[in-house]
Amino acid sequence: MANRSIGLSEPLYAYLLENGLREPAVLQGLRQATESEDMSIMRSAPEQGQLMAMLIGLMGAKRIIEIGTYTGYATLWMAQALPHGGQIISCDISETWTRLARRFWAEAGVADKISLHLRPAIETLDDLIAQGGELESFDFAFIDADKENYQAYFERCLSLLRSGGLMVIDNVLWGGSVIDADNHEPSSLAIRAFNRALKTDERIDINMLPIADGITLVLKK
Ligand code: CA
Repeated sequence: MANRSIGLSEPLYAYLLENGLREPAVLQGLRQATESEDMSIMRSAPEQGQLMAMLIGLMGAKRIIEIGTYTGYATLWMAQALPHGGQIISCDISETWTRLARRFWAEAGVADKISLHLRPAIETLDDLIAQGGELESFDFAFIDADKENYQAYFERCLSLLRSGGLMVIDNVLWGGSVIDADNHEPSSLAIRAFNRALKTDERIDINMLPIADGITLVLKK
């Protein structure tokens, strides 16, 4: 018995899903449909989606910004947690990847809550910031896109979040490469620098959690 987080063997992870996950059928369908897509490894873990949905419900969040839609699996978890009239702005650059997303959002009856912006997320975020009225108007942000831009996404999302708003950052352990000194991939260097910067950022409170590929919860003070 250790005080540190337990490592999950395959059977233990299967047990966690079996006993801890309540995945609605439409989400299960999207998850299965994503398996046959290119880059299916990019889909968020179901237990992570479920956690984010609970956080959104707890906060009473109404406005969400997501960086990195892919097939819209995490988006769908979040949309289902939003009240009527809630809104997600979801950013991606791939028409192909988001095709499944749009199909399943419609099937789940939440398409009206999601606004998909297909262009570089930095541009979408900068436009929102430039509009002024959007500043500090979001309750929740989810960053799960190209790692080299994490710092840029983070800064912009922080401006858009209200005080007391929450950001979830995905892949902060990056397959363990964060501690592999021989790994000089630009993405690994970016994640390491990003994690280091968050550690001492006084504008926020943080919790780095060993869920899926590692997530950091960021609370804006
Ligand atoms: Ca991810």
